[in-house]
Amino acid sequence: MDPQLSHYTQFFIVVTNLCKTNQITPEQKSLLKSNLTSKDEKICRMLIQNSGPGKEIQLREALLDYLAAQNKQIQRRRSHKSKTVHFMKDVAEQETQQEIVPQQESSAQPLASAAAVMIEQLVGVLHKHIDKHSLLVSEDKEKLIQLCNLIQKLTSEQVDLDGVSPFRARYSSENSKLAEISEKDLDSSDEDVYEKMVKGIDHIYKELKSIFTGNLHTHLLLMQEDISYENLYQVLKFLLKTLVDADEFTFFIHRDKEWEVYSSSNDSIKDVTPEEAQRVTDELAYIRPFCIHRIDPKQRQYPQIEETCKTNTFSQTSIVKFQLQLKNYEVLFCLHWTDKDKKNIKRKFINYANMYGFNKDVTHLAQFLVETIITAKVQFFNPLRFSDQVQDIGISFMRISRFLLVEGIKKVLSIKFEVEKEQTFSTDENIKRQKESQCVKIELKDQNPVTLRIKDMDLKNEQDLHLYSAIIQIQEKYDGYVKLCYEKSAFYKYFLRTTDSLLFDFNKQGELIFLSRPISKSLKERFNINFDPKAILYNKISYQDIFAQNSIISNIEVNIQNIHENRRNQYLSNLENPQFEIFLKVVDNDFKGFTVIFHENEARRLKQYFMALKIDNMTNDVQKEAEANKSLEEDIQKQILIQYNKHQTFKFLNQLDETQDVANSMIALFIPENELQQIRHRKTDGRSPEQQSKDLQNDQWVAPPQKKKKIGSSVYIKYQQQLETVDANLFKVNDSDSQLDLFEFNILVLDSSQEKHRLVYSILERNGFISQYKLNKQCLAQFLSVLQKKYNKRNNSFHNYDHGIAVMQSAHYMLQCGKAKQQIDDFRRMSTIISGLCHDVSHTGRTNIFMINSRSKLATRYHDSSPLEQHHAATTIFMLKDPSLNFLNSLSKEQSQQFRRILIDNILYTDIKVHFTLLKDFESRIKDEVTKPFGTGDDDLKLLTGMIIHTADFNGGAKVFEISRIWSERVNKEFSAQYDEEGRLGIPQTPFLKDLDKLHIMAKSEMGFFKVIVRPLWFTLNTFFDGYLQQSITNLDNTIISWEKIYHANLPKEEKQQQQL
Ligand SMILES: [Zn+2]
Repeated sequence: MDPQLSHYTQFFIVVTNLCKTNQITPEQKSLLKSNLTSKDEKICRMLIQNSGPGKEIQLREALLDYLAAQNKQIQRRRSHKSKTVHFMKDVAEQETQQEIVPQQESSAQPLASAAAVMIEQLVGVLHKHIDKHSLLVSEDKEKLIQLCNLIQKLTSEQVDLDGVSPFRARYSSENSKLAEISEKDLDSSDEDVYEKMVKGIDHIYKELKSIFTGNLHTHLLLMQEDISYENLYQVLKFLLKTLVDADEFTFFIHRDKEWEVYSSSNDSIKDVTPEEAQRVTDELAYIRPFCIHRIDPKQRQYPQIEETCKTNTFSQTSIVKFQLQLKNYEVLFCLHWTDKDKKNIKRKFINYANMYGFNKDVTHLAQFLVETIITAKVQFFNPLRFSDQVQDIGISFMRISRFLLVEGIKKVLSIKFEVEKEQTFSTDENIKRQKESQCVKIELKDQNPVTLRIKDMDLKNEQDLHLYSAIIQIQEKYDGYVKLCYEKSAFYKYFLRTTDSLLFDFNKQGELIFLSRPISKSLKERFNINFDPKAILYNKISYQDIFAQNSIISNIEVNIQNIHENRRNQYLSNLENPQFEIFLKVVDNDFKGFTVIFHENEARRLKQYFMALKIDNMTNDVQKEAEANKSLEEDIQKQILIQYNKHQTFKFLNQLDETQDVANSMIALFIPENELQQIRHRKTDGRSPEQQSKDLQNDQWVAPPQKKKKIGSSVYIKYQQQLETVDANLFKVNDSDSQLDLFEFNILVLDSSQEKHRLVYSILERNGFISQYKLNKQCLAQFLSVLQKKYNKRNNSFHNYDHGIAVMQSAHYMLQCGKAKQQIDDFRRMSTIISGLCHDVSHTGRTNIFMINSRSKLATRYHDSSPLEQHHAATTIFMLKDPSLNFLNSLSKEQSQQFRRILIDNILYTDIKVHFTLLKDFESRIKDEVTKPFGTGDDDLKLLTGMIIHTADFNGGAKVFEISRIWSERVNKEFSAQYDEEGRLGIPQTPFLKDLDKLHIMAKSEMGFFKVIVRPLWFTLNTFFDGYLQQSITNLDNTIISWEKIYHANLPKEEKQQQQL
């Protein structure tokens, strides 16, 4: 009656769960395990009878019955104090342990080795079967992995600080710690020891307090006008150093079937070869999620992971595995420390994480870092977006730091006393009472309460009493500080969300601790404010550094003088200059600091908020406090959510064109007004007569010879000889046309133009428009033949008929989504799909700027305002005026008018110049849902279909990289040709179009363009469509990263060196 592998697996899972949920004690768990190892007949039978999927409950009941029957035996064993066994380590350390702890119970050892042998076998089986060619059914595989995780847990969770097994530590730590101390304090007397202990604890207290200030410094660093990626990257590294003292990080990320590795030391993403990826996957199977593991370089447990992260170059590496909330990507995150300085107490966040259950908080920090890096790599962002999260992480580390204080107290006390730590309260009341009567206790109440029992401390002894009360005092002070941090955080968060007030918070020494957002240029100028956030890295920043204007400084100083006299909170409106106000904080008669607030029209509301703030009410328990703050916070959030969202967008736009990254890239082309004027300005300034004559020629640039207008002539008849005939009889729907309903549809694989025409027809037919609006097939055929002709007459590599159909198909795809159908009626859907088809007809292959600078006819005709787009719309309407082309001839007069309006609006929205306005308007409408549901606003549908066409215009870029790259190459070919032509014509050469034939320059330009323009569009629409366009986001992220890799791989050596300097 031998149990098989699957039985063992199930047994381990059930037993571990029983123990985890406190239904059995660790001793009982050990007993069950050892009885299984010795093949106890009852257990074996139980296992076999209750095996299989869904039988866990029966097995659990059976095991509990079994234990009940053996109750007496257990009682006896419990007194033995045998604990969970540390399998793997025990085997490895058997010999050393025997030397160190000769008193170790003899019974534990055979059990440990037997279990170890069994586990080794299981691991062997898993190794053999877990790879791709696995013969295991997935259920077994899953169980095996679960089992491995359990084993992993058993071997890792008990690794105490400094990697010492508690098993050994329990017996040796007191001795070794005493030895350590006695070495240091060889000559010191008892009094010195007490004094040292108090000092030591006070030191820990102060160091832990610095977590919150450090976190606020991180926030200050974020408050720069420079929103470049590089700045954010520095901020993240600073945050990591501040919170856990780590120097670098690496993460493995599993997306779209591929593994990639990001390394912070050179801020780059690398692909992992399939073989390496397989090994990483295998190694990951043994890592328990959310559990912080320390990598032991001697054991080489994870050879591939260690090699990829180059762990040998660091003194310590800890890892954690998790799923990314953002996208369900699997991530392995590695933290690295370069030196061995173990004195820094913040490192212990990592060491104690599993033990105290704050591995979730540490994982959250890791998740934030990963998400921020991958988001910032693919999309431009507003730093305010991250401020909130930085605040949250800071406050959560502040809370859990109380455990470090308790650990610190324990360590310091063990110089003289025997200290026992207890995390969960013992269920055995007798033992508890017995222990309590003998010991002095220090308690930390939290979700995971901790009690320190100090054995030989005698409170009748004056020194002991003094030490004890000092500790209790520090603990209370620390709790108060944590509460204060919660309060401050809520206060700061409020200001993070206001739109027109700017808050500076100073401590009582007058040093800046918080700034609510980057200071606008106008405010800086008006009040003569100097502020460089980076200075915080080297110095404290005082109010005198910031305000050069004497009136502000004297205002502050006079008021601080006053407050020392009357000692109460004061809110001071400034009558001479109502644009800033000062709030002075007093807690318990003690001046605590002051804030300076600049604002435009929020004065009254802010004042009320201040009045309501109960700064000196700090009697509650931390938990309660946090909850109270939460509700307060929710309140505030509701109040100003809408404003806040609007603010984000505006701020983003304002900052965008001040950013160097943007100013020097092609994107500047799309933020035109000022840029455009500069270019025009340059042109009129230094124009030679030669150029002027060239300019005259330029005027004729657009005029093709056949364009001499004959009023009343039929477009179709005029072109007929040159046109290919489109046979309306071919307009049928094929079975294969279902590809038209997919996001992946790729026009590039088609070369027959008959087939392309037919697909246009098919899209209309699939929507039912042909019959619903009685579209005229014959006219449609002729319309398409003229449309194609007009699209392709200049042989544009990008702006051609293919592009028109691709945009039409993409719009069709989007309009199939439920939310689109629910918002947009059939007629508007049809009009929008046709807008997509025609949106670039008769494109010159040049940008609007070129059209304007070259003084083209189009620019003249449309007064430089969206000349191309107006031309595309006008061309379409002109064509439809021709009776032989007007396939919409069954529409009523009103419908025709409406169609015309929708078509024009949609096409005008494809001018990149209005991109930001459109995006901003749409964003603020969809975020405004609370007060005014989308669809009820006058322009909502116009905005929505505008967004659809504008976004669909970038469908090529949103395809998988292999296809996206082709579209990018095509459009860049047009840009390069334009740059050359600008040179030939002697008109200003658009700087961002220079050298696009060089791969690294094109790659950089594409990267920026996708991050700033394309991704935000798809992202916003995807949000509105509840994830319907998720594929595009995945593709775009991949595309941006791919361009980044191409950029780095093709960067000429000289430039690479320059960058490193
Ligand atoms: Zn287009």
